[in-house]
Amino acid sequence: MDKTGHAATTAKRDAPAMTGSKTDLATPSAADLAPRLAAICGDAHVSVGSDIDPHYQRDWLGRADSHPAIVVRPGDTAAVAAVMALCAETRTAVIPFGGNSGLAGGTMAADGQDIVLLSLERMNRIREMNVPGRVMVAEAGCIIEHLHHAAEAQGLMFPLVFGAKGTAQIGGALSTNAGGLNVVRYGNARNLCLGLEVVTARGEVMDLLPALKKNNTGYDLINLMIGAEGTLGIITAASLSLVTPPPAYATAMVKVRDVPAALELMNFTQAESGGRIEAFELFGRLHYELCIRHLPHITPPFAEPADLAVMIEIAAGTDADATVGDDGSLPVTAQLEAILGTALEAGWISDAVVARSASQRANMWAMREDVLSAMVAHGKWVMNDISFQVADLPAAIADLDAAFAAVAPGVYGTAFGHMGDGNLHVCARPYDKDPADCPAEAAAIKQAVRDVVTRWRGSISAEHGIGTEKQADMKAMKDPAAYAMMTSIKAALDPDNILNPGKVLL
Ligand SMILES: Cc1cc2nc3c(=O)[nH]c(=O)nc-3n(C[C@H](O)[C@H](O)[C@H](O)COP(=O)(O)OP(=O)(O)OC[C@H]3O[C@@H](n4cnc5c(N)ncnc54)[C@H](O)[C@@H]3O)c2cc1C
Repeated sequence: MDKTGHAATTAKRDAPAMTGSKTDLATPSAADLAPRLAAICGDAHVSVGSDIDPHYQRDWLGRADSHPAIVVRPGDTAAVAAVMALCAETRTAVIPFGGNSGLAGGTMAADGQDIVLLSLERMNRIREMNVPGRVMVAEAGCIIEHLHHAAEAQGLMFPLVFGAKGTAQIGGALSTNAGGLNVVRYGNARNLCLGLEVVTARGEVMDLLPALKKNNTGYDLINLMIGAEGTLGIITAASLSLVTPPPAYATAMVKVRDVPAALELMNFTQAESGGRIEAFELFGRLHYELCIRHLPHITPPFAEPADLAVMIEIAAGTDADATVGDDGSLPVTAQLEAILGTALEAGWISDAVVARSASQRANMWAMREDVLSAMVAHGKWVMNDISFQVADLPAAIADLDAAFAAVAPGVYGTAFGHMGDGNLHVCARPYDKDPADCPAEAAAIKQAVRDVVTRWRGSISAEHGIGTEKQADMKAMKDPAAYAMMTSIKAALDPDNILNPGKVLL
């Protein structure tokens, strides 16, 4: 599925230097290792030193201090296993490298270590398209958008969608348990994965690919690997759920009174539509205005900016709901209009624009998908990707607003994100300045976010992962018994700490 047809955003912003801790691995030199890797993967698929393409040495955020000694591009699972066996034997650190669109520094290589960057890019085949079973088996290096097209060609849909869909690979998306724009309906990457093939730190192939919907045979190793950010194994293939695409959508941009009213609207829409909300995305005034100001391809939905808006999309449940009536209207659109009419009477909303054409719908989706580009065009931000229980959002947002206002006058965007999932992308510019120019205020904002997340028992990382960005926060905020268990799991599965060392755990 491609809601707008827009390619992945490519704008960059500066970010702090990578700080992943170093391992004490005694590795052979790159010169010793490269010929052995070339014997496995072929000369053309091993690069060393100055031959390494720059795109392996920086991440999407533009950090240029990543220093892999070798880049290796195996072409199949057997080659990944052989590379891992060699790296286990030589105790060489390995960083799995997908589409490199991650926002938590997970693919960065610290200087001074002989690190092998293992890129999955050549493993981009769809091994099986099981239409009756609604399952596709894809290799880890498949780009998400290619999976959309492959499913569409069979009249089906692979629902995972987010701004970097043209760059991110399914292996990376599963390793970060990516969320995105329709988690409220289909769940995140984890919910769409029925099976996995994984190469372990020792170079064994663990085949858990059969797409069994029920399988209670001991510990759930598939879900252990999902979200592990390459620290427990290398995902080489996945069995992915496909769905029948809805026959039509109804989409609207709506001015809502406040966050509690948005919550009322969401629950009412879910009830009235039979649980067919596809997206429910919150826009505070800041993000709404940034889109209008910085995205020339956007047509403002409203004449006057919204203080608080939501983009709602519901799906038609039947072909009848998607069949244009004699009056030229779609029943699913009429259904959304009726919902919005009730919401207007209840005082939850003050205005709404319902998309009347594919291009109007695409305009609303482009506004949502390109928000990050609009922010980057404006300047640099203190960014946070946090989550709360959905019912706590109104109070948590109020707390964040109050805490930020106490730090400094400036530009803040607290009420923005995937409301249906309780996920806020909170951003701030104290005094509307680059946070680097006011470090005390920037630090105070970060601390305020931690405090509010702690108070409401939320999560400091909702969908972007931990990487090298949030290790200290996770350690401080996670239940201590849970953190200790994660450390034990890492030690058991990767005793020499060769898989993505210095990431996730401190
Ligand atoms: C414009 C933009 C919008 C975004 N929007 C969203 C969004 O809405 N929701 C969301 O969740 N994320 C979003 N992201 C973040 C990002 O796209 C996701 O984290 C993505 O899933 C990462 O996939 P990747 O292939 O690029 O992984 P990479 O960046 O290459 O890697 C991410 C991590 O996974 C590990 N890894 C990669 N491949 C494998 C593998 N095969 N096996 C084991 N470990 C592996 C890496 O070592 C690293 O730790 C966005 C990013 C951008 C740039």
